[in-house]
Amino acid sequence: MPSTDPDRPIALVTGASRGIGRAIAVELGRTHHILVGGRDADAVAAVVADLPSAEPYVADLVADLSGASLPALPDRLDVLVHSAGVEDGGTVEATDAETWQHVFEVNVFAVAALTRRALPALRAAHGLVVSINSGSGLTSGPGGGVYAGSKFALRALTDALREEERPHGVRVTSIHPGRVDTDMQRALQAREGHEYDATYTITPEMVAATVRVAVDLPPTGTVESLSVRPFNRR
Ligand code: NAP
Repeated sequence: MPSTDPDRPIALVTGASRGIGRAIAVELGRTHHILVGGRDADAVAAVVADLPSAEPYVADLVADLSGASLPALPDRLDVLVHSAGVEDGGTVEATDAETWQHVFEVNVFAVAALTRRALPALRAAHGLVVSINSGSGLTSGPGGGVYAGSKFALRALTDALREEERPHGVRVTSIHPGRVDTDMQRALQAREGHEYDATYTITPEMVAATVRVAVDLPPTGTVESLSVRPFNRR
C-alpha cells in the first residue's frame, strides 16, 4: 500500500522500476516522499511497497511527448531525477532511423517534455533537477553515435537548463556514470561479445550516493557535473 508522509520533501525519480533509478529511489526514500516512475505498474508497486513514503508515477514517457497525458505532478517538487533511459544502436552504417528516433525520444525528448511540465513545481520549491547522463555524454567513439549522441544532447539540454533556471532558484546537476551493474549493462556487454564481469562496473547504489551528495548540498552550492566510474578498467 502506498503511504504518504506530508512533511517530507518530494522527489520524482523516472526509471525507478529497476537499475540505477530504483537505487536512487531507495536512497532518496530515506528522507523524501518518492514518486516512483516506470512503465510497468506491478514493478513500480513493488518499489513503492519497499519505501516509507511513496506513490506510483506510471507512464511511458514517450507515449505522448506533449506531456499532456502524463500523471499529474504536485504543486511543489523538490527533486526531479531523470534516470529513465535506453541504450541502443551501433555504427552509423548499421543503425536504422527507428533506432535513432527511439533512443533520442527516451533519452532527450522525454526529458525535455517532463522537465518543461515540472518547472512550475520545481520553481515553487526552489528544487533540483538531476540528469543521469553517462561517460558517453562526454566522449564518443566507434559505434557510439546513437547512444553517445543522445547523451551529448542531454548534456547540452542540462547545461542550458542550469543557466535558464538559475534566476528561478532551480539547481541542475548532471551525473556521468561509467559502466553500472544493471540490465542495461548486461545487454550492452552481450552485444559487445563480452562475458559479463561485474568487476568492471560500479553498483547502482554508488550512483545513488552521488545523487545524495547533490541533493544534500546546501542551496548556495550546486554539484553541476560529476563523473563516477569503475576503478577497474578492462
Ligand atoms: P535499466 O536497468 O535498463 O533501466 C531503465 C529504466 O528506464 C527502467 O526503469 C525503464 O522502465 C525505464 N524506461 C525505459 N524506457 C522508458 C520509457 N519509454 N518510459 C518510461 N520509462 C522508461 O537502465 P539503467 O542502467 O538503470 O540506466 C539508467 C540511466 O543511467 C539511463 O539513462 C542510462 O543511460 C544511464 N547510464 C547507465 C549506465 C550503465 O552502465 N547501466 C551507465 C551510464 C549511464 P521499465 O522497467 O518499464 O522498462
